[in-house]
Amino acid sequence: MKKQASIIVSMSVLFLMSFCLHQNRAEKMDPLTIESKTEKPGLSFTCVYDNYRVNPELKTEWGFAVVINMPSENILFDTGGDPDILLYNMKKIGIHPDSINKVVISHGHYDHIGGLPGFLDENRNVTVFLPPSVPNAVKKMITGKGAEFVEVSEVCKISDFIYSTGELSGYPNEQALVIDSKKGVIVITGCAHPGIVRIVEKAKEMMGVTDVYLVTGGFHHPPLSVVKKFVELGVKKVAPSHCSGDPVRKAFAEEYGQDFIAYGVGKIIEIK
Ligand SMILES: [Zn+2]
Ligand SMILES: [Zn+2]
Repeated sequence: MKKQASIIVSMSVLFLMSFCLHQNRAEKMDPLTIESKTEKPGLSFTCVYDNYRVNPELKTEWGFAVVINMPSENILFDTGGDPDILLYNMKKIGIHPDSINKVVISHGHYDHIGGLPGFLDENRNVTVFLPPSVPNAVKKMITGKGAEFVEVSEVCKISDFIYSTGELSGYPNEQALVIDSKKGVIVITGCAHPGIVRIVEKAKEMMGVTDVYLVTGGFHHPPLSVVKKFVELGVKKVAPSHCSGDPVRKAFAEEYGQDFIAYGVGKIIEIK
C-alpha cells in the first residue's frame, strides 16, 4: 500500500492543508486551493434518495443520496440503501448513471452505501471518495467492480469548488461535503454522526467564512437547541432531511420560515 500526501499552498487568500490518501494508485491529489478569486459557477443538486418525499412519482425509502450537478462534472453523494430504488429514482428524474463522474460516501452505514454496488454495475468509470473507516469489504467490492477509490482522511478537494471536511470522528466516522457556491458556503451531510454543529463549525473554519448559505442532509436527530445554534453560526438556509427527525424539522421550519426548505427525494435546489 502506498500513501502519498500533498500539502499545497494557495496564492493569496486561504491556505489550507490537503491530505488525501490515495489507495491503489500513488497519484497526488489536486491541490486544495479555495478558488476565491475565480468566478463561481452555477450548480444544482437533486435529492435522489430519501425517506422524506417531495416528488410522489419517486420511491421513498430510508437512506440518503444527492446528485450535485456542476458545469464540469456530476457528483453522487451517498447512494441510499437499495440500488434498485437509487437507479429507479435517478432514471425517473433523468439523471443517467453514466453522467456521474465521482461518488462520495459519507460513512459506512448501509443506508448510504447500499446502493453503491448496483450503481457501479451501471457505471464503473468513477472514483469513489470514502473515509478510511469504511469497511474493507466495501473497498474490495469497489475495486472488484472495476472502479477505484480514494481514502479521505483530512480536508481535501473533491472537485472544483467542492471539498471534503475530511474524516471526522463519530460513531461511525464520517465526512461531509462543503461547496463554495456563488451564494455562499453550502454543507451537505449524510447522517452527521460527528455532530451537525461540529460539521458546520468545521466547514466555516476550513473555508474561512463567518456564515453559511445552506446546510442540508441528515442532521442525526439533534436536540432542538440546534436551531438557536444554527442562527448563532450564521446559517442562512436549512434543508434537513433523512435522519434529522420531525421535531427538529418542525422547529427549523418555525424559526427559519421561508429559509426552511422542505427537503426530500426529488427536491432540486438550484444555485444561480
Ligand atoms: Zn449513519
Ligand atoms: Zn443514515
